[in-house]
Amino acid sequence: MWVMALLVYAYVAGLLLPGNEPRPLVDGWLASLMKLALVGVCWASAARARFRSPELLLTAAGVTLIALADTYLVLVPADARPVTFPAPNNLGYLVFYVLLLSVLAILVRRHIRTVAWSVLLDSTIGILGACSALVVLLSPVLLSIDETGAGIPAAGTGNPLFTLLLVAGIAGIAVSQGPVATRRWILLVLGLVIFASTDIVFALLGTGYVVGTPLDAGWAVGLALIATWTDAAANPEMASSHYVNGTAALALPAVSTAAGLGVLILASQVPIPVLAVGLAATTLALAAIPLVSRQVALRRQARTDDLTGLPNRRALYAGVSLRLGTDRSQPRALLLLDLDRFKEVNDSLGHDAGDRLLVQVGNRLHGALRAGDLLARVGGDEFAILLDHSGQQEAESVAAKLRTALAVPFTLEGIALQTSVSIGIALYPEQGDDLTALLRKADMAMYKAKSSNSGHHVYRSVDNSHGETRLRTLQELRVALQEDQLVLHFQPKIDLSTGSVHSVEALVRWNHPTRGLLFPDQFLALVEEANLMHGLTQEVLRKALDQAQSWKTQGRPLTVAVNLSASSLIDVDLPERVGAMLAARGLASCALILEITEDFLMADRDRARDILVRLRGSGIRISVDDFGTGYSSLAYLRDLPIDELKLDQSFVFPMAADARAAALVASTIDLAHGLGLRMVAEGVEDSATYDALVRHGCDYAQGYFMSRPVPAAQLDQWLVERASVATLSQ
Ligand code: C2E
Ligand code: MG
Ligand code: MG
Repeated sequence: MWVMALLVYAYVAGLLLPGNEPRPLVDGWLASLMKLALVGVCWASAARARFRSPELLLTAAGVTLIALADTYLVLVPADARPVTFPAPNNLGYLVFYVLLLSVLAILVRRHIRTVAWSVLLDSTIGILGACSALVVLLSPVLLSIDETGAGIPAAGTGNPLFTLLLVAGIAGIAVSQGPVATRRWILLVLGLVIFASTDIVFALLGTGYVVGTPLDAGWAVGLALIATWTDAAANPEMASSHYVNGTAALALPAVSTAAGLGVLILASQVPIPVLAVGLAATTLALAAIPLVSRQVALRRQARTDDLTGLPNRRALYAGVSLRLGTDRSQPRALLLLDLDRFKEVNDSLGHDAGDRLLVQVGNRLHGALRAGDLLARVGGDEFAILLDHSGQQEAESVAAKLRTALAVPFTLEGIALQTSVSIGIALYPEQGDDLTALLRKADMAMYKAKSSNSGHHVYRSVDNSHGETRLRTLQELRVALQEDQLVLHFQPKIDLSTGSVHSVEALVRWNHPTRGLLFPDQFLALVEEANLMHGLTQEVLRKALDQAQSWKTQGRPLTVAVNLSASSLIDVDLPERVGAMLAARGLASCALILEITEDFLMADRDRARDILVRLRGSGIRISVDDFGTGYSSLAYLRDLPIDELKLDQSFVFPMAADARAAALVASTIDLAHGLGLRMVAEGVEDSATYDALVRHGCDYAQGYFMSRPVPAAQLDQWLVERASVATLSQ
């Protein structure tokens, strides 16, 4: 490559030196050596690609032909060459063009395996636009060629028509390949453009070939760029694409169209070959097609959901208003579906899996509906369906059918995934006379179906008040945080080996000014929705640690456990802040346990690990709450810094009555112990369960059987009573 570059520089510099006398060193030696180097580089590249790359082989053959044709021109004096077309050198040049056009065709083919017809159209416009402009440019030469080919210049590439074809080809390819024009393509295209431009200038000059003019420099530079391209193309590291942006891809057909227009304007002023006028007119006619077709495609795109290919919210609006517009008397139903626990699928299996689930859900729904029903994906995991000729009964039976269709497990990443869906139904015309009203009511009904776990629910006017309550509650929550309306209740954790109590769980309640004491299930979801979880956690931590400090000063130190929601993950300063809060109250870090759920671990594993490692590093213990209910894998038990598992109540409730449930609890306790973790059983409601847990070697128990969560003062009393009972029984 270096030798070739040096020779090309030297040759071009030699050509551009002033002076008219013959320069055998430049025109003879340097020219020959340079061509040898060009041919050498091309074949070396083809060899590097193990002679398996057709484009490199064709280019090498083409460049070799040029070198041979040039040698013929130099060696055979003008009077010894045949007068009629084609002379051997002409043939060489022509075949070069054919070969290089094939190279371009191969590259295009490879990059766009399925050619969109709009791309082809753009290319055709590019080709025709370039052709019409070139025909005008070359008209003096073209007009002088007669059918014997007598006007064809005896040297150079010989035929301006081929030049025209090549430039048009390049223009067309440049247009179609706007998005895939790679760096190495640019070298090839630039080389060809320079080579062809030199040909055009040569043809226009009409002086015949004279050795040693600056035109030789043009051909040499063009070929050098082509050879450089072969070198780059044989290097696999260069294979990465450098995309030309969309504006460039759009600009090229625009330029071609402008060229066509220019030719037509020119044709009205001066005589121009008919061919040029015809080409220009066709260019303009074709240019109009994409405008129309793009409009159509854009419309379709704007109304289709990218992921599932179903109509989107916009299409739903258009479709529904069209249907309502044609027949307002017909009863209809709008169903709004929302997948249950979709977020957990996303968090535990990743967004790709979530996306694939949505696609499969879309297909199932589509398969379960009639042809005339309008199905759309209106948001993340929300689908809407408009049923024509449907009253409440029909809508409910369709809802039941859809739920059955979705109840069959989906296969995702090789695992069978069971999902369920909540469906809200709104009826037309009685519950709303446009889509906005129907959607709002279906949404309230869906919310109701979800909160009551009923699967589907038809809107009733009481649901509306529920929706309004929700909005009001959101506003009140902000006030609650500012005005200190949150209170903590504490539930003891009993050490099953001794019966003593060393720790308690802090559970938040909202002392609502009018609605009384509210439990977490009535407001925590709203706290998340209103992005207030950070404030709530902060408040709960403050109150819990204040209480721990107070117990410590009373000489009865108790460890408090505080629940952290998955959204606490965004707070990277949490470990430091908690550390400072403990230090400010003179509490050791073992005075605090943080309870996290599996979705905390799954949402962003790296961040969760980082936060947990830092918390654990400062001595704070970590407990996994509701263990056994999430989608997470067991691997996190091994990999993450955890101290304790809290087996979810749903496993504990049935254990006294069901031997299999008891066996499951027993083996989970063994699993925890095997990993060096403590096991806490939640939801212990009777003595049978308590005794069974003691038998199975569970470490701690928490439940209504021992104590409900109660205010601190009440807990103090409970502890005193318990201590006296213990003393009495001794
Ligand atoms: P959790 O952390 O699993 O708390 C245990 C829940 O089970 C508590 O409900 C408790 O009252 C209840 N429970 C305890 N023993 C029994 C029993 O024997 N039988 C039955 N049926 N239930 C029992 P609670 O207080 O309504 O809290 C519900 C959930 O709300 C908690 O589940 C926790 O996930 C969340 N939560 C509570 N306080 C906070 C908080 O301060 N921050 C956050 N982020 N979440 C909290
Ligand atoms: Mg908890
Ligand atoms: Mg729990």
